[in-house]
Amino acid sequence: MIQKKIKEIRDSINKDIELVAVSKTKSKKEILEAYNAGQKVFGENKIQEMTVKHEELPKDIKWHMVGHVQSNKIKYMAPYVELVHGIDSLKSVKILNKEAKKNNRVIKCLLQLKISEEFTKFGLSKIEIESILNSINILGLKNINVAGIMTIGSFTENMNVVIKEFEKSKKIFDELKITFPNLKILSMGMSNDYKMAIKHGSNMIRVGSLIFGKRI
Ligand SMILES: *Cc1c(COP(=O)(O)O)cnc(C)c1O
Repeated sequence: MIQKKIKEIRDSINKDIELVAVSKTKSKKEILEAYNAGQKVFGENKIQEMTVKHEELPKDIKWHMVGHVQSNKIKYMAPYVELVHGIDSLKSVKILNKEAKKNNRVIKCLLQLKISEEFTKFGLSKIEIESILNSINILGLKNINVAGIMTIGSFTENMNVVIKEFEKSKKIFDELKITFPNLKILSMGMSNDYKMAIKHGSNMIRVGSLIFGKRI
């Protein structure tokens, strides 16, 4: 079932779109099923859970942190994490840079754009994103690579609201790229709306329940 879902999603999207299989709360057995279908990129939203899974599962899995990052736990994932999606403060940027340096790594991250007024607590405005990117340059932080932005659409049945948010995100992403050409990734779209997100310019989708079934 999991293998079939992975294949279905892969077949329905372009090759240059990265599928992140969001495996939070799911067992090692379920993750291995997806892995055996060729899926190598997995997303988690709790650092401790991800770290245990990283230790116990095949080492060629690329682990993405898709949840809100608590700065005091960054050190646990710094040795291995591939991409941190939800960075939303200069403080977290600095800690990520420091922990990356300790591990002799450059860690890739995305800055979280706050697009939905009512529904999301976390995230940054366009101006705040610009300010953080400028600070990184001024401070000369060398162990962090901001590779793009991520956004979470509103939890609503009203697809028109979500489409508007996706359009707005893409517009801001394109505007930011003019000044900051290193921004390559637009992480946008989940199980319910990934097709729409891709239509509006997403190149990285985070899909959980559609692959693994509902979370309890
Ligand atoms: C859980 C989660 C997902 C996956 O959600 P589904 O609706 O199960 O596909 C994607 N992105 C983030 C940030 C999440 O926390």
